Amino acid sequence: MTATDDGGLWVYAERRGSSFTPVSLEILGKAKELSRQLSVEVTAVTVGNDGGAASELQRYGPDHVLELVHPLLAVHDGKAYAKALGTAIQKAHPSTLLLGATRNGQDLAGRLAVRLRTGLTAHVTSLELDGGRQLVGWVPGFGGGIEAGITCPEKRPQMVTVRPGVFLAPPEGSPTGDVKTVKVDLSEEDVGSRRVSFEPKGSSIDLTRADVIVVGGRGTGGNFGRIEELARRLGGEVGATRVATDAGWVDRDRMIGQTGVITRPKLVLVLGVSGAVQFTVGIDGAGTVVAVNRDPEAPIFEHADLGIVGDLGPVVESLLRSLGGA
Ligand SMILES: Cc1cc2nc3c(=O)[nH]c(=O)nc-3n(C[C@H](O)[C@H](O)[C@H](O)COP(=O)(O)OP(=O)(O)OC[C@H]3O[C@@H](n4cnc5c(N)ncnc54)[C@H](O)[C@@H]3O)c2cc1C
Repeated sequence: MTATDDGGLWVYAERRGSSFTPVSLEILGKAKELSRQLSVEVTAVTVGNDGGAASELQRYGPDHVLELVHPLLAVHDGKAYAKALGTAIQKAHPSTLLLGATRNGQDLAGRLAVRLRTGLTAHVTSLELDGGRQLVGWVPGFGGGIEAGITCPEKRPQMVTVRPGVFLAPPEGSPTGDVKTVKVDLSEEDVGSRRVSFEPKGSSIDLTRADVIVVGGRGTGGNFGRIEELARRLGGEVGATRVATDAGWVDRDRMIGQTGVITRPKLVLVLGVSGAVQFTVGIDGAGTVVAVNRDPEAPIFEHADLGIVGDLGPVVESLLRSLGGA
């Protein structure tokens, strides 16, 4: 499709059981903000084997909810979902499609971009308008040394996948918008011969929702026992740098940063972390940052509200003592 702005702004609301992925609600909030600037309407579009999930979406302020349903769409199948959503897009001509950068979202986005012959900006950490109607997706590039602003000036829809946790979900309100349920025309041939679906492991933690995170880096020397205890007493979660996860000190799903998770805790304690940009991009949205590092020149102090120059060991013990307990 060529560049026209006639069908509004669409958000793919990815279903997870009877609910939606948190990032779906986060991008719905951002879409509302952009739609006010663009004076267009927002449609939240879902794909599944039945309707009925719309009422949850309606509480987050879309102008319309579109449910694409068929029995073959019960679980994510990239090929079938791309056909269902691609056909709807070709009919309605939205100018923009936002998706969450989950595994399923990325799978769907790539297939859709090929199907619709349009551009896709993947894994953005920030979104804005260029002063006109053009969306700019910001992506860390060259190992985090630069931020690249990427646009799709000639094709529509302009497609973007957004990393979980970079935008705040809007507060729930009264239901808004109308709901349209469309039965999709599909057959078995439309389903991928290899069904590719990625569901989160039941045990995986979600650092994007944590209010308090205690992060350990190389400076911990792998001694995460006390870090875990500190996080527990603060009612928070443990996070880590890539050095710490690569060393096997902490599970990979606790890595924060460009290749890890983007977090927005109210409080983050950063212990023995140098402050490489690939890490700090993951805590830029934090409320209060407290850093402990024995090097007074460590870049992490440029990101800290409170910096303590010193050995992290005694600082952690002192904090544990003041919090009480063994
Ligand atoms: C493409 C790419 C993507 C990347 N993505 C990520 C990512 O998502 N997340 C990520 O974290 N990294 C990422 N990295 C790696 C990143 O560049 C850094 O190498 C990494 O963040 C450094 O981890 P660190 O701070 O734990 O270790 P270091 O940089 O080695 O810093 C350790 C710090 O601990 C301090 N220290 C040592 N001992 C003590 C002590 N006893 N008490 C107090 N302070 C002490 C030192 O002064 C030092 O500042 C990426 C790199 C690339 C190239």
